[in-house]
Amino acid sequence: MAASKREIMPIFTRKPKKSFDLFVVRPSKYDEEGYVVRYLKGVLPSNTLSVLAALAQEAFDSGRLGPDVETRVHILDDVVQEIDVKRLRKRFIGPNRRAAVCLAGVQTNQFPRATDLARRFKDAGFETLIGGFHVSGAIALSETMPPECQALIDAGVTLVKGEVEDCFGDILEDAYHGRLKPFYDIVNKPDIDKAPIPLIDPIYQKHFAYPRMGTIDASRGCPFDCSFCTIINVQGRKMRCRSAEKIAQQVEANFKRHRIDYYFFTDDNFARNKNRDAILDALIDLRENKGVAINFMMQVDTKAWRIPGFVDRASRAGCSQVFIGIESLNAANLEAADKTQNSVDDFGQMIDAWHQGGIACHGTLIIGFPHDTPESVAADVERLKQLGPDQCSFFMLTPLPGSVDHVRNQRNGVWMDPDYNNFDSYHETMRLPNFAPGQWQETYWKAWASFYSFENMRAILRRCNERTYWGIFKNFMWYRNALREGIHPMITGLWRLRPRTDRRPGFAVEGRLRHALRRWREGWQTVRAFVALFFELEELWLQTRLKGETTSPGYLAALRDKLGENVQSLSKSITTQAAGVRDAIGDRTASAREWINESASGVSQRFRAGFDRLQRTREESINLGNNLRGRLARLLVRWNNAGRRGAIQSRAHLRSYWSALGSWVRRGRLIRVAAETPRIMYNFCRDVRLSVTFFVYFLHELTCE
Ligand code: SF4
Repeated sequence: MAASKREIMPIFTRKPKKSFDLFVVRPSKYDEEGYVVRYLKGVLPSNTLSVLAALAQEAFDSGRLGPDVETRVHILDDVVQEIDVKRLRKRFIGPNRRAAVCLAGVQTNQFPRATDLARRFKDAGFETLIGGFHVSGAIALSETMPPECQALIDAGVTLVKGEVEDCFGDILEDAYHGRLKPFYDIVNKPDIDKAPIPLIDPIYQKHFAYPRMGTIDASRGCPFDCSFCTIINVQGRKMRCRSAEKIAQQVEANFKRHRIDYYFFTDDNFARNKNRDAILDALIDLRENKGVAINFMMQVDTKAWRIPGFVDRASRAGCSQVFIGIESLNAANLEAADKTQNSVDDFGQMIDAWHQGGIACHGTLIIGFPHDTPESVAADVERLKQLGPDQCSFFMLTPLPGSVDHVRNQRNGVWMDPDYNNFDSYHETMRLPNFAPGQWQETYWKAWASFYSFENMRAILRRCNERTYWGIFKNFMWYRNALREGIHPMITGLWRLRPRTDRRPGFAVEGRLRHALRRWREGWQTVRAFVALFFELEELWLQTRLKGETTSPGYLAALRDKLGENVQSLSKSITTQAAGVRDAIGDRTASAREWINESASGVSQRFRAGFDRLQRTREESINLGNNLRGRLARLLVRWNNAGRRGAIQSRAHLRSYWSALGSWVRRGRLIRVAAETPRIMYNFCRDVRLSVTFFVYFLHELTCE
């Protein structure tokens, strides 16, 4: 009997699947022309996005939205990704499709951009929330709701003040059911050890210049009282910490699954984390016993080096750099900022102690304290250079909402810039009695230029050790590139993008042609700046390079060395993988085990043989090269000034040769130029060889930590 219509109906009326997509978004900021500050590749991934993604995933995995709801978490970073609200709306909003957006970790300078994005998302039908340092800090220290926050509430955007670990699932449930409150005031500070460790999203990682870098907040809060800081009024003075076991487990898992081998511990003060020693011991164990060798950078206070055994432990655990809030070299300034824990007389000893542990020292200096003047700042920078930190980051004093400084200014009626986009620590946001308008910023950029001058970078690289050399060198590239752009290095990236239509309200959208021409011109200037930076770095390397990093017998040898390392590590990895498979199979399948043994050792032997051949070829070429070069070099030195042996320490001779050649060309001395042909070719080859050798070393170091 044929099936009746009624019998087949249920197949076609099956309930459609519902979906709920959550976007955790880091907003960027606007530049002076109203364009979003965005880069092709970023430098520092956002820890807040990783934390929220992990929390959301945990809430979704618990199934609290119901079995018929398909849930997804997406990370969107405005600094490195385009945010096309219309396209997202088309894809994620509709019948049975709901979506929410969390603008997360929003700092004061990001607040205007976050506000614009929040309004766009809200208008497009997304449930929209905004949290972070600005909302939490500004509300915490205001008697009434700050006007910029109230304006968002009026626009239907939900504000979240505080840390969401204990209630994020509830908030997401409210968002899914369309019943978000206008304001969540979370007073309790969560126990972060119970929260999941920040998630590594491999797709997100690809947006960064070094995709194998992860972030973990091992603790939150800070016991100190600095008047310019918002941490204490947002995260509290009591420190809350994650356990060493959880951190070690996650570090090991991330290393094996995603090859994450460099971390930034985002704790504002790792040295005061009560689990500090246990975490470092766990990292030492991973490094020394389990082959999980990660390096990391951490923030500590100026007294941390005095904690018995701390520097040595950190060094053994893989710490490559410490970030230290020196803030000022003037004790009166430190007192005015309630940073009395810093003692100016200790700074030299502190830097030496970290250096003895083989750890690079990155200090910070804030410019604009009450006792600063243009002259005193210049003198402080010179003094700082003598003290010998490997890096320094400069900040202009900024009265951030949520800090004691902001409250004091409000109370005393001090003028503060009404545009929060400028609260990025490199704009003047107040008037200072010791600086004329514009002079403060000028002094600030001069401090950067002085510290990152060629001479100071060279002095730093000459005194640093093998372990820290390339880390510092790469940071110099990052910082010099940012300074060229006139932007703070910590919010910069590689290759600036300016999306034409995504411009700050109040700035007109440029026509396509005009925009394309401007971008082309900028692109060309950037390429020229990169070339100049390349030669500057090459010169820096030639004058400071480590023993064993040779330009002789040239880039081929360097290439062979690097290739050899890779072959060796590939061979090792094959053997390790095979051992893993063998263990997994166990005794049950003896023949399979034998086959794997034979295959693995066969492949491994072939790689070793290949590697040995490469080594032999290299040695032969060195011997041959040495004999020939010995004779040739003596001849060439006589013939060509730029070819003398000393030139290998610098491109100076080559540079002066090229500029002399340029002047002959300009003066039309073409016969002289023609007579120079052999020397031109010789010096050209020599220059190319130096550059390629440097490039090979640099590229190799850029892709590993
Ligand atoms: S500036 Fe550093 S030491 Fe001072 S309160 Fe903030 S986090 Fe703590």
